[in-house]
Amino acid sequence: MTSSKLGKFGSLRKRLLAGIEKDPATDCWNWQGTKVMGYGTLMVRTHRLAYELFVGEPPDGRVLDHMCDNPSCCNPDHLRPATVRENSLRGDHLFARRARQTHCLHGHEMTAGNTYITPSTGRRQCRMCRRLRNRIASRERTLRKQAARKTLVN
Ligand SMILES: [Zn+2]
Ligand SMILES: [Zn+2]
Repeated sequence: MTSSKLGKFGSLRKRLLAGIEKDPATDCWNWQGTKVMGYGTLMVRTHRLAYELFVGEPPDGRVLDHMCDNPSCCNPDHLRPATVRENSLRGDHLFARRARQTHCLHGHEMTAGNTYITPSTGRRQCRMCRRLRNRIASRERTLRKQAARKTLVN
């Protein structure tokens, strides 16, 4: 690595660390800045940048695979250099697993009618859960409004 490259990386390292929020539950280093297709970007993909800064350049032709399946995570411990083939195979498995999913986390059947596909990400969501979430959110809004009114009256 030349000294000019080190200088560039020195300030990148600061910007990278400033943009990361560590999640104590998963130990993921979640990138808070700009994301493209779920991956953090800071000129290059942030997970790749973090790996190069803290571990080193991945071996020739290797891509970095997220062992935690969290594309915005930059924790070098969660990254593993994989061949493109391994990576896409793993991706296929993931895709297949999601496509095969017949029930949501809460056990609602993921029929065509009950599946909402997020237009921006293509992610499948359970419509029943979305409705429940919205209902809870609006109930909370009403409760907050009532509480605010009460404090005004008192
Ligand atoms: Zn992670
Ligand atoms: Zn559901």
